[in-house]
Amino acid sequence: MTPGQTGGAEYDARIKRAEQLSSPHSAATEFLEFYGHVASFQKLLLANIAAAHQVKPPAPPAEPRGEIDFTVILPHFRGYLSVIENHAPPALAESARQMALLDSDSWIASLEAYWRYAGIYDQQVGAFAQFLPRAFLQPYAEFRAALMARAPQVTTPRLCPLCRSRPLLGVLRPEGDGGKRFLLCSFCLQEWEFRRILCPTCGEEAEDKLPVYVAEDSPHVRVEACDACKFYLRTIDLTKDGNAIPIVDDLAAIPHTLWASEQGYSRLQPNLLGT
Ligand SMILES: [Zn+2]
Ligand SMILES: [Zn+2]
Repeated sequence: MTPGQTGGAEYDARIKRAEQLSSPHSAATEFLEFYGHVASFQKLLLANIAAAHQVKPPAPPAEPRGEIDFTVILPHFRGYLSVIENHAPPALAESARQMALLDSDSWIASLEAYWRYAGIYDQQVGAFAQFLPRAFLQPYAEFRAALMARAPQVTTPRLCPLCRSRPLLGVLRPEGDGGKRFLLCSFCLQEWEFRRILCPTCGEEAEDKLPVYVAEDSPHVRVEACDACKFYLRTIDLTKDGNAIPIVDDLAAIPHTLWASEQGYSRLQPNLLGT
């Protein structure tokens, strides 16, 4: 994505994929329908961010977490809260309603706290508490990260080389006869290359300590576990399903989350909806 492109097409693909994955039999349908509303809002917000950027381009950010330009995004926050209030599951809708009652200084404080700590110092916070700032700021983080110059990658960093956040997902992309693994950042949604036989949480490299589990009914969703640290990385395998959109297929994988926790594995970083 460049400043000239608003990224709208990526959002359209996410919305379409959420519709495809919704089915009357899926436990995830309620979440996917809600996510469709969130992504539609995010697409509009991104278009506004991109338009403001063209009028007044700031210096290219040195990192995605540089100062937030609240004049660009804050006017959209109330509208965002109504989208959540109208479409979210009850507890989340109520938290949006409460947030709407607060003044703009409180909104800024909440957004800034997320912006500073997300994916770095927030492991105990949980997806629910983080949802409101996270879904709102995601397009902004994505936009800024896409503007950054990228240094060639010579190491295998366990944190996002652009913003230092923990990875949300692995992504296997077709290359040659197999797949090359990338990690997808939980904060700015950019990807970086990562070795296949290496735990992104603790650095374990012994293949027999890194079991991979795949369910028969969705072979493109992998639980890449580590028996040394007991964390797992969910990886979306695009060599098995080229239509998958990693961040959306992740939201649909509720049975995998339950299964992994029954096996005693924890997820390093929850997704937007904590599923
Ligand atoms: Zn990042
Ligand atoms: Zn590990």
